[in-house]
Amino acid sequence: MTPYTPPTFKKTAFNCPHCGAYANQFWSDTFFQGNSFGHIVELHYCRCIHCKQYSLWHLEKMIYPSTGGVASPNNDLPEDVKADYEEASTILNQSPRGATALLRLAIQKLCIHLGQKGKNIKENIKNLVVKGLPVKVQQSLDIVRVIGNNAVHPGQIDLTDNVETASKLFVLINIIAEVMITQPKEVDNLFNSLPANQLVGIKQRDGK
Ligand SMILES: [Zn+2]
Repeated sequence: MTPYTPPTFKKTAFNCPHCGAYANQFWSDTFFQGNSFGHIVELHYCRCIHCKQYSLWHLEKMIYPSTGGVASPNNDLPEDVKADYEEASTILNQSPRGATALLRLAIQKLCIHLGQKGKNIKENIKNLVVKGLPVKVQQSLDIVRVIGNNAVHPGQIDLTDNVETASKLFVLINIIAEVMITQPKEVDNLFNSLPANQLVGIKQRDGK
């Protein structure tokens, strides 16, 4: 998975909130001109060198586009999970607690999609670890209170959730999709693209 660098105030390169490319970003101050001319110190303008579109920053926070700041959802995610992910990304800055609640729900749906029973997320994740999900993902989900002793029920609003919690959950959903859906699919494609006679040989070796 390519590393994702979220848009960050005054950083000269990051993944563009419009085109998604990791690209150089040009920052400018903003000014107003009416009867007088002045500098709007708290507002900054940033332009992506790749797609030429801009983002607007107020008090060091990106206020436009509202959907930016989060990596695109993994393409192999089921549609309903992808929809939750995208909705959460549009409200991240305005309502990080709402975004986090939605993302916990999305993780539960993803577990069901991956053949788990859905209700007890702790149990589901444990089973996914047996199927190959790295233990580190399990530990990370513990830290963001998806599983573990201080788990927050999926969809429930937790007063202590913030942008940082939500940002971690976006990354975790994509990691789970990458490991449990995308990578097995790519290995299958690679295997099936082998010449037929070699496939027969491999199956004989494996006693199939
Ligand atoms: Zn761009």
